[in-house]
Amino acid sequence: MTYDRLVCANCAAPVNEGRCPVCRANRERLQQENPLLANLNPMTLIALLAVLIAAVALLAHQTV
Ligand SMILES: [Zn+2]
Repeated sequence: MTYDRLVCANCAAPVNEGRCPVCRANRERLQQENPLLANLNPMTLIALLAVLIAAVALLAHQTV
């Protein structure tokens, strides 16, 4: 997210600077969305899928 370019409608300053309560609220809301996206990045999903497939393959071998 390029929220550093966002300009506040209340004080007309960059939201990233957090000069007024509206800025700070917007900045916090935008920053809270970033960790979520970081946790759900494709590499993490692929790694989880690989682990799941490996576990299923291992169990299939053991039961046969
Ligand atoms: Zn503002």
